[in-house]
Amino acid sequence: MKKPGKEASLLIIYTGGTIGMVHDPVTGSLVPIDFRYISDHVPELKKFGYELHSVSFDPVIDSSNIDPAVWVRMASIIEDRYDEFEGFVVLHGTDTMAYSASALSFMLENLNKPVIFTGSQLPIGLLRTDGKENLITAIEIAAAKTNGNPAVPEVCIYFDNKLSRGNRTTKLSAEHFDAFSSPNYPYLAEVGLHIRYNRNDIAPPQKGSKLVVNKIFNTNVAILKLFPGITRNLVHSVLNTKNLKGLIIETFGSGNAPTYDWFGEELLRYIKKGGIILNVTQCHGGSVEMGLYETSRQMLSAGVVSGKDLTSEASVTKLMYLLGKYTSREEVIKGLNRSLAGEISFL
Ligand code: ASP
Repeated sequence: MKKPGKEASLLIIYTGGTIGMVHDPVTGSLVPIDFRYISDHVPELKKFGYELHSVSFDPVIDSSNIDPAVWVRMASIIEDRYDEFEGFVVLHGTDTMAYSASALSFMLENLNKPVIFTGSQLPIGLLRTDGKENLITAIEIAAAKTNGNPAVPEVCIYFDNKLSRGNRTTKLSAEHFDAFSSPNYPYLAEVGLHIRYNRNDIAPPQKGSKLVVNKIFNTNVAILKLFPGITRNLVHSVLNTKNLKGLIIETFGSGNAPTYDWFGEELLRYIKKGGIILNVTQCHGGSVEMGLYETSRQMLSAGVVSGKDLTSEASVTKLMYLLGKYTSREEVIKGLNRSLAGEISFL
């Protein structure tokens, strides 16, 4: 609970990643910081009028090792301490941050508080780090209010002056500070001298509904990226993977694929066996529109589901989440066709 005189009370959850690294004074190598002493590295935190609490994973995790069990750990911390805090900041490696933010957006149903993911390209212990600004502004956004309500009651990613909806975000650069983009949805806030919230694009508060945390994922899924020259052998092997419940095909352009007869036959055989195929585009922006070209008709008639403008990260987490939640194929397909947490647009 917030102490008297404090503007907001927030929980920082440190999972790992570059942001939490400093040079070991003895060896000179980069090592994770002891998060209890974060304000020694970022003294600016003491200047906030907020009450900041933190929990740290032990050991911390490079985000390449994150999996659904870790998403459950993160979501459970938020669930257990939901009533204590007005907002949450999750420090996470950048590599899979967009997957984790997408997964949590589906797990945290009826979320009415900010959950802001951030990280950095350079460790917080380096002079030129981008981590300090990312952390400080993520905290400010997590504490922000509009008419007494949380300004951004969503799972978001804050990085390099932009706040984006987590399940709309994708990692774009392993080099630049401007590492993330939101190709198909406007930024929720842009940061310069002021933090300008794009209020019309932010989900409205979910007043009165209790937080429900969905913790089951089914990982029997695969992603197949098409390329010119793809062989039947490859498509056949992927579709015949033991226990495969759903396949995401990353298609060309607005959802197009080769019109070879064998391609349609393989997809149809898998769908008739009860499998689910979701069509997302391998383009960085834009949407699948099945039927627009002849080259997507075959998939449409085989019963492939359109992923519309889902990012790759949101498509795989959404499919694992729906397959974990429902045993009925129809329910999973119904969920894929709906926006659960603002992850798809309806044209
Ligand atoms: N490998 C790191 C991670 O994702 C990279 C980073 O944090 O930027 O955990």
